[in-house]
Amino acid sequence: MPIDQTSVLIVGGGIAGLTLAHILAKSGMVVDLIEQKSRLHTSQAGILLNQETLSVYKELGLYKEVTQEGNPLTQVEVRSISDRTITHFKLDSSLPSHQHPVALSRQVFYNILVAHLSVRQVLLNTSIKSIQQDVDQVDVIFSTGEKRIYSLVVGADGAQSPVRSLVFGSRRALFSGYYGWQWMTRSDNSESAQQVTEYWGQGNRLGKVPLAKGEAYIYGFFKGPRRLDYPPHAWPALLKEQFSDFPPRIQALVNQVSLPGQVHLTPMMQVNMARWYKGRVVLIGDSAHALTPNLGQGAALAISDAAALAKHLLFASSFDRAVALYNNEQIFRVQRVQAFSKLSGLVAQIDNPFFARIRNTILRWAPSRMVAYLAQKAFL
Ligand SMILES: Cc1cc2nc3c(=O)[nH]c(=O)nc-3n(C[C@H](O)[C@H](O)[C@H](O)COP(=O)(O)OP(=O)(O)OC[C@H]3O[C@@H](n4cnc5c(N)ncnc54)[C@H](O)[C@@H]3O)c2cc1C
Repeated sequence: MPIDQTSVLIVGGGIAGLTLAHILAKSGMVVDLIEQKSRLHTSQAGILLNQETLSVYKELGLYKEVTQEGNPLTQVEVRSISDRTITHFKLDSSLPSHQHPVALSRQVFYNILVAHLSVRQVLLNTSIKSIQQDVDQVDVIFSTGEKRIYSLVVGADGAQSPVRSLVFGSRRALFSGYYGWQWMTRSDNSESAQQVTEYWGQGNRLGKVPLAKGEAYIYGFFKGPRRLDYPPHAWPALLKEQFSDFPPRIQALVNQVSLPGQVHLTPMMQVNMARWYKGRVVLIGDSAHALTPNLGQGAALAISDAAALAKHLLFASSFDRAVALYNNEQIFRVQRVQAFSKLSGLVAQIDNPFFARIRNTILRWAPSRMVAYLAQKAFL
């Protein structure tokens, strides 16, 4: 018998929280969402989503709009810093282009989710101060001092999750050893408009993703110490220094960044937990399992968490059962992606020049079909 009379509080208006809010509201549940920021927006960046992930938005009637705003990707090229191809492969060439992964502006994606959101209440500038629960309900106090009672509280509040700290105690996010750069630019049209191109250096790499309407999304990763003493005004200089041995066309891209607001630098955190629920409080997305960024799968997992949790809330006989079923359904996939992501970081970001050359040689000789198969297994 499905659960009825449900009021759900979602803490966090990121991709996980917004997606869950859509699904639950569409199913008739009473949903409130709180977000600590003053508006529902995201950093200037792009995002890659595969078709399995995007299919979640079909049921919500948003798939067409999301994919129309996106750019289908059909191939991947990895190049060395001497600008030689290391590997180049097509993403399942038997598929028509509308079934390929799609790259889109994160803000555009966000805008679509926000524009169609229809929950009971969205409270901005609001955080969570306390969470107390018994078997039947969860009592929360917001940062505004307001008290409310819910049947379920979902922490969708990112890697540093305050919900996780309040309810699960010492489960801290750990620094993964990586930092991520992200910025948007105009495409330089130097590669196919359907190709992701990554340049692998020694301990760092940079990727270019063509988006729709002549835009491009650039991401970069590098290994670094836990504390990096670079305030935002020093970021453009750090970026230039880090990619100074990359090919001239990459340096041209990097040189376009002159103001701190043009680029975003994030320490990449990791959360390792096997159990994401306690009574009537449950975690989804990065708050449950932030992972190294090497496969770009964090949002995909967050969306699939939202879909799995919603499904079990709608069909399970009790909350206890719903959250346990959600956890069981997602844990294997999450742990697999976390492990693959770690492994691919070890390969893509080798910092020893000798081993980096060996890696490049092996990949150059490996049949591209095999590389495509492995990449699609891990990422798509
Ligand atoms: C460089 C880089 C590239 C990436 N590329 C990709 C990609 O191509 N594909 C992909 O799938 N993933 C990618 N990811 C990962 C992806 O961005 C994240 O995994 C995803 O955004 C997690 O979504 P989330 O909703 O769980 O958390 P978040 O996006 O962190 O959202 C959490 C929200 O909760 C709010 N919040 C926090 N605390 C509180 C509080 N106390 N009260 C109220 N609100 C609160 C925050 O303000 C925020 O809005 C990338 C990450 C990086 C850094």
